Amino acid sequence: MASEVLLLIGPAGAGKGTQADALAARKRLTKLSTGDMLRSHVARGSQLGVAAKSYVDAGDLVPDDLIVDMVRDQVSGMEEVRVLLDGFPRTPAQAEALDAMLAEFQARMTAVVLLEVPEEELVQRLLQRARDEGRSDDNEETIRNRMEVYRTSTRPLIDFYRDRGLLHAVDGVGEVDAVTKRIEGALV
Ligand code: ADP
Repeated sequence: MASEVLLLIGPAGAGKGTQADALAARKRLTKLSTGDMLRSHVARGSQLGVAAKSYVDAGDLVPDDLIVDMVRDQVSGMEEVRVLLDGFPRTPAQAEALDAMLAEFQARMTAVVLLEVPEEELVQRLLQRARDEGRSDDNEETIRNRMEVYRTSTRPLIDFYRDRGLLHAVDGVGEVDAVTKRIEGALV
């Protein structure tokens, strides 16, 4: 199989994690979610988890070098890079670091899916998730900060990938399966 690197990008609450699970299974890719990895480090109390916890709880970005090393650890064990990225890269600097890393492993970005959901719906979804799952960063103040961080740090990535002809914008409102089908439709 050839290498393949897909990226799901979008604000908190857009459904990246859910769609990443569905797409990774269908396309036989390994899902790499930096948010999940960080939460697991925090739960285990690893050195990285201890360093990352205050950023995650505040909804701030964890420093790029920690994130890039964490992803590199995952990718470097792969015989062939076939990954679905969820939540990384999140800054232009991370995107540059990823490009360099992929080149080292004879791979490159295949396509980028932007999941679009209006902000009012995002906040509602995240507050619902707070009630269902109790994630420490799903409270109103932190949610607001994550939205702001998305606007200032992550949005520039949209142009970065659009300029490379890799960006596919997909409407993220609706049933989970319907959104998955839209994404698959956008990728063929
Ligand atoms: P969401 O997209 O709902 O905010 P994530 O699970 O993707 O949730 O991320 C949760 C938190 O983990 C972020 O608010 C941030 O603190 C940290 N994080 C995740 N990915 C990155 C990344 N690529 N760079 C920096 N921090 C990250």
